[in-house]
Amino acid sequence: MNASKLEIFQFPCRQDNYGVILHDGDSGITISIDAPEFEAVDDVLESRNLKLTHILTTHHHMDHVEANEALKSKYGCRIIGPADEADKIPGIDKSHGHGDSFEIGGHRIEVIGAPGHTLGQVNYYFADQGVVFCADALFALGCGRIFEGTPEMMFTALNRLAALPNDTLVYAGHEYTLANAKFALSVDPENAELVERAKEIELLRDNGKPTLPTTIDLEKRTNPFLRASDAKIRALLAMDDAADVEVFTEIRARKDRF
Ligand SMILES: [Zn+2]
Repeated sequence: MNASKLEIFQFPCRQDNYGVILHDGDSGITISIDAPEFEAVDDVLESRNLKLTHILTTHHHMDHVEANEALKSKYGCRIIGPADEADKIPGIDKSHGHGDSFEIGGHRIEVIGAPGHTLGQVNYYFADQGVVFCADALFALGCGRIFEGTPEMMFTALNRLAALPNDTLVYAGHEYTLANAKFALSVDPENAELVERAKEIELLRDNGKPTLPTTIDLEKRTNPFLRASDAKIRALLAMDDAADVEVFTEIRARKDRF
């Protein structure tokens, strides 16, 4: 197993998406997590003189796959994506589902099924790097909107992510954190760490800086979508005796209306 440290370049693109490029100087592999926009991804590759070898697609939404074919035709890269929506991923070569793992350049990548936002979304966990790419499942202080699946599916997906080691670095597909923070404070207003984090986020965004990556630990302490079992949130929602999944469903419904 190749334990060399991957270089990670995160960059904003489109309206509020993040692109991420991973590079391993030893094996020469260069991976794009999703392919939101050809020019933005290609600029990062060109400016660092990198040759794209792989795209790991998380889900079929256009703002995650738009550049698949253009990048593949320029670089001849291999496209790996979610098994349950493989027919919707342009240029896909190989697909994987929940519980699968595969290797690129000696790095083992574990596939975490994360349906809810779409029916087939997958997240990619690089265990030897302690990094997970959550796309539109888990956001900083938020979670993806449930377009195709059910709240139960999304709740299960988030629990899988929450079970990763606390210090796991979390990269997500969008910069939604400022809006997420405002909502989070509406359901968890007495969480001192959240109040503090919301201020830091405001400062970061005022200075045009990203609020990602985050960590699993920080999300468990401040993200209401991972805190359905929290007594104060339950009390505020008047759901003291409800099941965690019901509390999660109510928080998600409130966010949709917020
Ligand atoms: Zn999406």
